[in-house]
Amino acid sequence: MSNQEPAINMNNYRYPSEQVILFGTVFLILVVLLLAAGTTLCVLPLFFLVILILSYATSQSHHRALIAQAKHVTSESLPSLAKLAQECARKLQPGPTQLFVVPSRILNAYTFGLESPKVIVLYSSLFQVMDADELRFIIGHEMGHAALGHTWLNTLLGGMAGVPPSFGAAILFALAFRLWNRACEYSADRAGLLACGRLDKAISALVKLVDARIDTPEEMKEALEILEQQDDTLEGMLIESTATHPLIGNRIEKLREWAASSEYQRLQALINRNATKI
Ligand SMILES: [Zn+2]
Repeated sequence: MSNQEPAINMNNYRYPSEQVILFGTVFLILVVLLLAAGTTLCVLPLFFLVILILSYATSQSHHRALIAQAKHVTSESLPSLAKLAQECARKLQPGPTQLFVVPSRILNAYTFGLESPKVIVLYSSLFQVMDADELRFIIGHEMGHAALGHTWLNTLLGGMAGVPPSFGAAILFALAFRLWNRACEYSADRAGLLACGRLDKAISALVKLVDARIDTPEEMKEALEILEQQDDTLEGMLIESTATHPLIGNRIEKLREWAASSEYQRLQALINRNATKI
């Protein structure tokens, strides 16, 4: 990567309320904890320290287990995937990352790690279902999490990052951060769109995450209609409220809105220009 490339301001594609929600959630948790703790305030720092140590240990052991069964993506082991990931990294500048492929029949990807390099995990089924642009969206989405600094808190919280919550009490904290989790997904989807540069491919990648069998444009259209109806139902809203990820229909809607903005056009042009420089 050239040193002369203008740096990308990550906040340009961050979903607007993401950080406000995070600060609000942390503030609320602190208020509740302060009220509940009362005279035993001195226990609080210890409590956070225990969470930190346990989460770090969980993350490390997850990393070790992952390496034992996953394939590290390098230009020797998987050259075409490594090249594709390098293209995404040139665009998004996520900082040091390692890419792993885990054999699995599930369609999924996640990013974790409290320290550098951040680890991006792709499930092998993605390669049977997604084309190159759709993979750019998926990898770009994960790199977006790393670039925007979502990874460390998600790793601490567990669950979303593929790392299980380290102990019972952490589950309560994880639930408190759900709204922030969902805002992070919108931000990361924007990163995915910037990496692949095609709204249609970003959308088809999201739809395929729900239904991998989709093959024809007619099937895609039909699936999109169903997904768009789901997010308007009460059931859909209830499901979403406790989930780490927004409903796919909502993610598509937000991506469409952002793709139509002049802010997106400007950022995409800047990123494409940076990516073509040596
Ligand atoms: Zn994500």
